[in-house]
Amino acid sequence: MMEWHDRLVEYLHDSRVSIYDRMFMLVSLITILGTMFATIIMAVMGSVVTGAVVFLLECIMLAIILIGYAKNILPIVAVVISSLLALVSMPYAVISDQLSQLGIALGYMFCTVYITLVIPGKAKKIILTLMAVAGIGAIAFKYCMKYSAGETPDLSGYIMDFVTVAIFCIISALIIGFQIHLFLVETMNSEKQRKEIEKLHDSQNRFFSSMSHEIRTPINTIIGLNEMILRENASEEINENAANIQNASKMLLHLINDILDMSKFESGEMTVTNVPYHTGDMLSDVVGMLWIRAKEKNLDFKIDVSPELPQELLGDEVRIKQILINVLTNAIKYTREGSVKLQIQCEKKDDGYANVIYSISDTGMGIKKESIPYLFTAFKRVDEDKNRYIEGTGLGLSIVKRFVDLMGGKITVNSVYTKGSTFIIEIPQKIVNDTELGDIRVNQKRGIEGTAYVTSFEAPKARVLVVDDTAANLLVVEKLLRATKVQLDAVSSGKEALQKTFDNTYDVILMDHMMPEMDGIECLHKIRKQKGGLSCDARIVALTANAGSDTELLYAKEGFDGYLVKPVTGKDLEAEVYRLLPKDLVVVTGTDEMIAQESMAWIKDHQKKDAIRITTESVADVPLELQEKYGIRVIKHMVKTEDGIFRDGTEIETRGLLGYMENEDARVETMAPDEAEHEVFFSDQLVKANNVIHLSISSKVEHSGCIAAEEAATEFDNVFVVDTGHLSSGQGLMAIEAARLAENGMSTEEILKCMNKMKSHVYTSFVVDSMDYLARAGQIGNSAARACKAFMIHPIITLKKGKMGVGRIFLGTRERAWERYVATAFRVPGKIDRRMLFITYVGMTQKELEKINEMVSRRIEFDKVYFQKASPAIAVNCGPGTFGLLFYTDYND
Ligand code: ADP
Repeated sequence: MMEWHDRLVEYLHDSRVSIYDRMFMLVSLITILGTMFATIIMAVMGSVVTGAVVFLLECIMLAIILIGYAKNILPIVAVVISSLLALVSMPYAVISDQLSQLGIALGYMFCTVYITLVIPGKAKKIILTLMAVAGIGAIAFKYCMKYSAGETPDLSGYIMDFVTVAIFCIISALIIGFQIHLFLVETMNSEKQRKEIEKLHDSQNRFFSSMSHEIRTPINTIIGLNEMILRENASEEINENAANIQNASKMLLHLINDILDMSKFESGEMTVTNVPYHTGDMLSDVVGMLWIRAKEKNLDFKIDVSPELPQELLGDEVRIKQILINVLTNAIKYTREGSVKLQIQCEKKDDGYANVIYSISDTGMGIKKESIPYLFTAFKRVDEDKNRYIEGTGLGLSIVKRFVDLMGGKITVNSVYTKGSTFIIEIPQKIVNDTELGDIRVNQKRGIEGTAYVTSFEAPKARVLVVDDTAANLLVVEKLLRATKVQLDAVSSGKEALQKTFDNTYDVILMDHMMPEMDGIECLHKIRKQKGGLSCDARIVALTANAGSDTELLYAKEGFDGYLVKPVTGKDLEAEVYRLLPKDLVVVTGTDEMIAQESMAWIKDHQKKDAIRITTESVADVPLELQEKYGIRVIKHMVKTEDGIFRDGTEIETRGLLGYMENEDARVETMAPDEAEHEVFFSDQLVKANNVIHLSISSKVEHSGCIAAEEAATEFDNVFVVDTGHLSSGQGLMAIEAARLAENGMSTEEILKCMNKMKSHVYTSFVVDSMDYLARAGQIGNSAARACKAFMIHPIITLKKGKMGVGRIFLGTRERAWERYVATAFRVPGKIDRRMLFITYVGMTQKELEKINEMVSRRIEFDKVYFQKASPAIAVNCGPGTFGLLFYTDYND
């Protein structure tokens, strides 16, 4: 039923379907439903046979419409049904006297509206005209019939009725027709505009991609030749200028890449290309590119990779690198001192996939809470006052987010302004090779920018051919490879290349893609098939200005042995040529120092981050033993006395505090941690965990920290606050259960759902000796407290929907009150979850506790009973002689 309804709504809103077909569907269904209702009334009133016939007709009509919809012939069905209605049913109704005068008038009005709405163009006019003719004919026929039967019907009355109906029909047809006309004109205009925008978009995208391609060629020359200046060890000033040119060119290149990516996203053309990749190599590449930048800023660059990470995954390596480089570059850019850390964890799933979690944290300037929603908006830079002098366009994170979304992952951010930020990126990837990565080492050699250039190899016997139609590109490659001493030939067209390969044996050919007359791909195929050619087996590298992860795959498919994107650096060019040259031609000249320095950045001892950490407050009264067992972290409330402010439980303890409170004038106030304290607490937890679920005391009790916690959580994407609606061990029970669920591998969303359900499955209550303390803490009124004391009333305080209230009262001695309290708490034993019971108490003797235990065990056996001394902050609210029974009721996760 639901599915039908959804499909119908979707159909009616589908702008690709003609307005007439949609109106036909809508009006016909309403009409059928309306007449079915009338049929039922008819049958009830006694016209059973007529009712059944009409009902049958309606069913036939419904079937015809559905067939028309299924066969996609609704316009024909509309014409048939309208014609039957206007040219058969109505004249028949007129002649056979089935309808009253009013019924006939309304019938014709309905037909006019119906036909105008559901039939387009000429067909509409024809059917309306035929309807008018058939209508006049029927009326005339009826008149004649009556006349010949000897009646004297009122001719002028007939004509008046006819004219009135005709005028109303014409007016409604004109109004509706005009409205539909307006709608169609508007739709046509907006369709025209949409096409124009699409065309503009297309040409804009074509422009961006050709611009990106064209700009890469001159940048290639600038970067390549500039690198030669840097290599030449010229004067300090020249070196400085060259270094600045290098930075500026790289920025320009970065900008072009970003704009190109953005335009692809906008046009919906961006795709990811999944190929198997080696995780260790991927990470080595990323770190190799960035650690030097961190070093230049004197930042510690730490990398902590889980040894469990599979060695090979299936995914878009190029884009994953781009994501990591972007976020890490930001971390380095926006951090003045301290460290930048890349931590990688992996959650393997049963379906052969792994969730790879990259968390990038820095100790930098942080991000203001109000800026976080705009972080991923294109061209939006946040906190511009502060980072005015830091280069950037505001495109990076927007592209990152779009890529992460495209890969089915998610990106979240936790940041404390002025203290630092953590970006957490989760990307699901298929596992190709499940062998664990183990302790990873950087295994690729890299030249180190900024230090004196040393070539990584020499190969004087190797022969290399470079093919490029742009002379400057040839020059760049020639110069960049000069130090390797390879024998290099350069040609500027495919035709010349074929001549060269016919006569010479080349080990490596560097081939441009886009060349006039014969492009690089065609040239490659011709070289491979060249009859009598000496370089048919040469290793051929595509040297191209086409960036993008899909292009790499394209070149591999065409049979290229390698792929280099312009502008190419000396380091990359050397590495690629080295990789492809026969090793007997090569002498390695680089030093191992390069490798050693890089591997320093890797952390040996992997610190595992928890997927989810459960936190709560000291007032939750979770026993230490359970805090440790489940790794629950606790934020302390404060207790303020005239002697100062103390931390709940650590700096002040219950017994001393109760002694102090014996003096009725002693003022004690409990204080929940404020927003700033929660922020610090949460950010500390996030160093060790990817997500935090914080179980907070009921927001409806006095001195609750719930609102502050919720406010602080808005700073973080991964902190979730649950208002438990309980306090003390009731709140604790929820924290324990959440921790148990997290330990069983439940996701954050699932745990949050369970916690919401659980609120009504925790029983929190206390029997208090007197209400004095509650009154002093502002939890209840003074007069109620005085009355209780005077009449020896022991009230039970229960928590319902988060609010503290007096549940029942017991008169008489404390022990009698306790007995009755225990009986009340356990009155429906079948509903009690017997896993654990908390007997949380304030100021009780050992003997009293034993007594209570006995009362409890007489009624119900629990797997585990915890006697828990209430925290000082709870104690001052209840006073000595208080105890509570707290447990789960009827709860299944
Ligand atoms: P930009 O090119 O400006 O760096 P991004 O899209 O990469 O653009 O980032 C957007 C904004 O987010 C930046 O302008 C900066 O204000 C803020 N930002 C990003 N990363 C960090 C970080 N690690 N620390 C502080 N602020 C950051």
